[in-house]
Amino acid sequence: GLELRNIVKNFGAVEVIRDVSLEVNDGEFVAFVGPSGCGKSTLLRLIAGLDKPTGGSIAIDGKDVTAISAADRGLAMVFQSYALYPHMSVRENLAFGLENTKVAKAEIEARITDAARMLEIEPFLQRRPGQLSGGQRQRVAIGRAIVRRPDAFLLDEPLSNLDAELRVSMRAELAALHARLKATMIYVTHDQVEAMTLADRIVVLRSGRIEQVGTPLELYNKPANRFVAGFIGAPH
Ligand code: ATP
Ligand code: MG
Repeated sequence: GLELRNIVKNFGAVEVIRDVSLEVNDGEFVAFVGPSGCGKSTLLRLIAGLDKPTGGSIAIDGKDVTAISAADRGLAMVFQSYALYPHMSVRENLAFGLENTKVAKAEIEARITDAARMLEIEPFLQRRPGQLSGGQRQRVAIGRAIVRRPDAFLLDEPLSNLDAELRVSMRAELAALHARLKATMIYVTHDQVEAMTLADRIVVLRSGRIEQVGTPLELYNKPANRFVAGFIGAPH
């Protein structure tokens, strides 16, 4: 499991994350929701070890993350900005980091084929990211995480750039993927429907603090305050 204890993050004098504590169980699907600027991406970056908290600690399976090398953390992140390698083809982007590991070549190929089919990016495997639409790039970024078979996915608004139809089909694909891989998912979204349909638990953030954590039903039926109710779309 993943444990955040009293996480604080300051940028200069600005407190962006304020005393966030949270436990995420292995295999759990947790959605982070909250308005723009509330600290969702910052929190994901801290969990991924891309940035260090100003205070507090993060542990994976009881071990402080600072004691685990990035490669051994078993995490794969999908960035809001995609962060694809512009000089590599889509296929190379997907394979990057898997080559020269214990994963056999045939297995890498099988995973790429599988992910490309699921994400409907097969026709683009030879193209470079610059030759793709935003939504296509976004799917490549998801694919790059999937082929790694991580213990935990950190997904930063992974469907935000897709049209309504594709978003609904990808939502179903992500749910199926979660069921199949049994990986932990930490999923940032500002789409309530996505959070309500996909997540085991929803974390509502506001100005760097957790307002409420609960199952979709708990948040809908017993929102802690008007802010949560408004965000979840519950009557208030
Ligand atoms: P969005 O929904 O728009 O993606 P978010 O919840 O992901 O928002 P963050 O990107 O985590 O928000 O940013 C939280 C706050 O921290 C914002 O006020 C942002 O301006 C600030 N911030 C983020 N990164 C930095 C940085 N490197 N230096 C200074 N301030 C930062
Ligand atoms: Mg963000």
